[in-house]
Amino acid sequence: MPDPQKAVRLADYQPYTHCVDSVDLTFRLVPEATRVTARLTLRPNPERTGRNALRLDGEGLKLLSCTVDGKPVKPEIDAESLTIPAKSLPAGAFTLETVVEIAPDANTALEGLYMSKGMYCTQCEAEGFRKITYYPDRPDVMSRFRVRIESDLPVLLSNGNPVGRGKGQAEWDDPWPKPAYLFALVAGDLKAHSSTFVTVSGRKVDLNIWVRPGDEDRCAYAMDSLIRSMKWEEEVYGREYDLDVFNIVAVDDFNMGAMENKGLNVFNSRYVLASPETATDDDFARIEAIIAHEYFHNWTGNRITCRDWFQLCLKEGLTVFRDHQFSGDMRSAAVRRIEDVVALRARQFREDAGPLAHPVRPESFVEINNFYTATVYEKGAEVIGMLKTLVGDAGYKRALDLYFDRHDGDAATIEDWLQVFEDATGRDLSQFKLWYSQAGTPQLKVADDWKDGVYTLTFTQANPPTPGQPKKDPKVIPINVGLLNPNGDEVVPTIMLEMTRAKQSFRFEGLAARPIPSILRGFSAPVVLDRKGLAEERAFLLAHDTDPFNRWEAGRALAKDVLAEMALKGAPPPPAFLDAMASVVFDESLDPAFRALCLRLPGEDDLAQTIHAMGRIPDPAKIHAARREMAGALAIRLGDGLQRLYKDLDDSAPFSPSAEQAGRRALKMSALGLLTRRDGGKLAASAFARARSMTEEIGALSALLDVREGQAELAAFAARWRRDANVMDKWYGLQIMNAEPSEAAAVTTRLTETPAFDWKNPNRFRSVIGALAANHAGFHHQSGAGYRTVADWLIKLDPLNPQTAARVSTAFETWPRYDAARRKLARAELDRILAAPGLSGDLREMVERMIAAR
Ligand SMILES: [Zn+2]
Repeated sequence: MPDPQKAVRLADYQPYTHCVDSVDLTFRLVPEATRVTARLTLRPNPERTGRNALRLDGEGLKLLSCTVDGKPVKPEIDAESLTIPAKSLPAGAFTLETVVEIAPDANTALEGLYMSKGMYCTQCEAEGFRKITYYPDRPDVMSRFRVRIESDLPVLLSNGNPVGRGKGQAEWDDPWPKPAYLFALVAGDLKAHSSTFVTVSGRKVDLNIWVRPGDEDRCAYAMDSLIRSMKWEEEVYGREYDLDVFNIVAVDDFNMGAMENKGLNVFNSRYVLASPETATDDDFARIEAIIAHEYFHNWTGNRITCRDWFQLCLKEGLTVFRDHQFSGDMRSAAVRRIEDVVALRARQFREDAGPLAHPVRPESFVEINNFYTATVYEKGAEVIGMLKTLVGDAGYKRALDLYFDRHDGDAATIEDWLQVFEDATGRDLSQFKLWYSQAGTPQLKVADDWKDGVYTLTFTQANPPTPGQPKKDPKVIPINVGLLNPNGDEVVPTIMLEMTRAKQSFRFEGLAARPIPSILRGFSAPVVLDRKGLAEERAFLLAHDTDPFNRWEAGRALAKDVLAEMALKGAPPPPAFLDAMASVVFDESLDPAFRALCLRLPGEDDLAQTIHAMGRIPDPAKIHAARREMAGALAIRLGDGLQRLYKDLDDSAPFSPSAEQAGRRALKMSALGLLTRRDGGKLAASAFARARSMTEEIGALSALLDVREGQAELAAFAARWRRDANVMDKWYGLQIMNAEPSEAAAVTTRLTETPAFDWKNPNRFRSVIGALAANHAGFHHQSGAGYRTVADWLIKLDPLNPQTAARVSTAFETWPRYDAARRKLARAELDRILAAPGLSGDLREMVERMIAAR
């Protein structure tokens, strides 16, 4: 049993002792005893001195034989590795061959080679390859892979190009050296949805999306997204695809969203399969973004990979940034930006403010799977956005071209990445690098002054302490600012103010009157902007700002102020706020998607975060009540205009997943939700009955559940979709997220007793247990039932699937923000998890970090 608390440190990095020039793998696939033969061509790494033993990673493998240059050797074997002492190795190059046996059908952790409904598939990132064969399982060891698969299954896939196919076997050759985490193998009875793409230099690429028979007709949108991604990558980044075939496989049992294995992306089926009947507009947008993300990894991740797992943000931050750019180009850039920031605050700011806060590039970890976080991904992307703002579009382009030129084929670091920007633009980025090493969300206070025709903005930045980092230096913060005059005209268009000190002032001269500032346009830095008590300024910006992000942001800030007042003091919803909402919602000149976003009230967890940041203790029950009261007041204030709006948006155009139609549907569903509060569900029931898309079906059902109606519709939904696991996940989630807080845990328990609750399937587990965690007032209910129910299930899942259990455990990361009674209840559950027999290293690390907070 490995010591679960053994931490790996960035500072301890050393190159591997050997180079692996080539790898030949043969798989004889049998569910309970698959035989894996690995032939590795090795030589001593010139970057290391002396004669070194060969240590290979390997876990849960049954070694059948081991030879060096054809002669049997007796290696030392423990639970994590195989070692051949230096004296048993030739001085120069040699060939090592191992034969091991593994049992894919007993693999419930879904790492390495496992089975999902009769098909074989793999997941190797981060450290899954060591569960397949003995190998230096680290990203800086890059090698050429050749794979032979022996099985009677009709479809046998691996990375690279197909080079041989016969009865019961297939061979694949990947010409591009890669780390083991990008290895993939799939075998099964699959059907392809196929197309082709011709690259800018004329290479014809066969594109296939492989699914279970019967699902072929639900791949068109994913295929269309793939082709658009390939074209965009050529046009915007000048990067072309580099193999003859690109395969995507949809798998039902998958811990993550998707995986960018070279030439063979493996996807959670939820992010591939879509038709208007089964996928919501959000699903379509997510599929487009994830298909693009994994494809973009071919350059940022695969051709240039990470030296070690501390550099994870090198590939993830950059690739998330690129998929955001892509989605912005495909859809409304302003709407995408708003949605990305909503997600950033909900997940990353929450993480940054709690016990799990860590830098974009962490410096130590126990279990790397626990660092696939919003901070590494989303904040990692924001850091790149800031870099682009600081060096400008042309500087960014020069730097990226240099990055691809200089590091193609490398396992690189954040230092390499920043060096490229320094060399391409002549900028010193030593202070900027703090964004990679310091955790926590900076708080930016702003004050302004108007004197003798000079307008001054003064910013003060505070970098709050986070675990292990009590004191911090000021960061470089790009602050995009525009100024409006009192008539609402823009007098200073967006300029970038570069803040480098703890406190800094910027002067504006030549203005006729005191301007109204629009600060942090486009959310130019991931900070909390602290500008209090200016309701009129916010209302003014909501009405006039030319920057669409800040226009939305002004409304958002107003809504948060108002809802916090309501939750803390029991104040009624102020008429001025309701009027401001009405003027945006009914403004026909605005994009419907934008109006829908404005109408969406801040979530309860977001409000708890806001109240906590004000130095107060959030009360989940009061927040819940305030939000409901506000929705009721809005429904009354918007009055009959809502009905007209709903009617106008209820058009009969044929369905398209386009952003334009999706925006109209979003606004229509928001209107329906409010109307349902007035008519008790009459309109929603008829909308459900004649829904023409999953967005409308789910929208109507949510509206009904929200007013405690909809039982007949729930039954009809289940009868219609019982064979479709991805759709049924929504059915489970909706009931729990819309449950009365006092009943949320009981509803969850009742649903876990339904026959279709396959808790070993990560999607189903998250759609039920994750939904309870997402019902803020239900999870944090004073009875403690929410905490207890989630803890029970984490304890149950952990022995089978530690990775998913550890991820879902982040439900508890906000526990220190609540009152003493709730803290005591949550802490008791965390202690109970920690005491569970056979607790995994994954879940132990997470719980110990969360407990260490207080
Ligand atoms: Zn990724």
